[in-house]
Amino acid sequence: TQPDPAAGAAVKATDRAHVFHSWSAQGLIDPLAVAGAEGSYFWDYDGNRYLDFSSQLVNTNIGHQHPKVVAAIQEQAGRLCTVAPGFAVDVRSEAARLIAERTPGDLDKIFFTSGGAEAVENAVRMARLHTGRSKVLSTYRSYHGATAAAINLTGDPRRWPSDTASAGVVHFWGPFLYRSPFHAETEEQECERALRHLADTLAFEGPQSVAAIILETVPGTAGIMVPPAGYLAGVRELCDRHGIVFILDEVMAGFGRTGRWFAADHWGVTPDLLTFAKGVNSGYVPLGGVAISAEIAAGFDRRPYPGGLTYSGHPLACASAVATIEAMAEEGIVENAARIGEDVLGPGLRELAERHPSVGDVRGLGVFWALELVRDRATREPLVPYNAAGEAAAPMAAFTAACKKSGLWPFVNMNRTHVVPPCTVSEAEAKEGLALLDEALTAADAHTV
Ligand code: PLP
Repeated sequence: TQPDPAAGAAVKATDRAHVFHSWSAQGLIDPLAVAGAEGSYFWDYDGNRYLDFSSQLVNTNIGHQHPKVVAAIQEQAGRLCTVAPGFAVDVRSEAARLIAERTPGDLDKIFFTSGGAEAVENAVRMARLHTGRSKVLSTYRSYHGATAAAINLTGDPRRWPSDTASAGVVHFWGPFLYRSPFHAETEEQECERALRHLADTLAFEGPQSVAAIILETVPGTAGIMVPPAGYLAGVRELCDRHGIVFILDEVMAGFGRTGRWFAADHWGVTPDLLTFAKGVNSGYVPLGGVAISAEIAAGFDRRPYPGGLTYSGHPLACASAVATIEAMAEEGIVENAARIGEDVLGPGLRELAERHPSVGDVRGLGVFWALELVRDRATREPLVPYNAAGEAAAPMAAFTAACKKSGLWPFVNMNRTHVVPPCTVSEAEAKEGLALLDEALTAADAHTV
């Protein structure tokens, strides 16, 4: 497409007049007007092209405008755009079958939602109904969505303005060796102490009052903290001991992001409920859901499930999920994510860390990596304080601006940049992104001690 700055300016002016944006002070934002996208790139109206190392909000696992998914949506639109959730529909049945075929263990029934937060809301509702208990435990350094229960479960500052004391949520610390809440020095210590801390939290909350423990299998926006070996199995064991429902939130980590269909596959752990969204159809049409164990699903064989959504299992969304999952399987896209992580991103990012004093830690797997930027490697003082805004966040703003100027669209959160390209990213694109990051990191290095 040809650049058309006048068209871009018109799009932006109307946006500023009428669109109320998420998470933003409306008067202080300057959104980029996007003209188009393909594969790992998107572009604006001024002729600037960006390598998308954010996958938007870590959702375009299959890249932008995958032709098979676009065609499936077009075909479905011509056939049947919408039908209420109470009917049986070919594409909904097939999407559920393809998802159930891939989820761990006996998670074989799928409740569809329009996105991740609604998936979490419904998983929590199922856990409470199944156990007859009310409390839900979740970790600090987590994000579970912006609806009522999901935002209360969230363990980052996005929760604070929406906190309601009545939500029945208790937060605990998950494992994170680089900033260990347990002052651990090895992965083994971190795992052992994190499990003891969870067991103690349960003991003092009263395990008989706890309906569910919800974890992101690999916490995403909060920092891509890959759990130590044994941690998830330990949580599973605590849940079993106390009759607590174990919910794994794979909204961000699922569908190829970690180089496996589900992140839980890395550790062979099966939760009772698994939430998904994003990568299930790369967000081409809004879709999320809950995969439900045989036991919990059976609890609703004779009593009605008291929850539903007008767009549950929307045909356009389900058609795009079928096409996405089939294309990912046919084209080896999950395997590509694993290979790019092992051969290109992991080694490449560790090499950047050796040369840039601002990089304190490199962690991740598949196409799911975080660089922890620090002022001082020795003390691990973050490049900007926790939840910094305005002037205090200037060093990260300078880094972000340097990325964008060079044509790399980064995913930045607090003092971290996440390297989260599509699962389809090629070796050449991943290397191009690493080279652009290399340049941009000098802007962060300027703020080190
Ligand atoms: N859970 C996790 C782990 C997420 O990363 C997100 C979104 O980033 C959500 C839930 C909420 O999903 P949505 O924004 O689709 O409601």
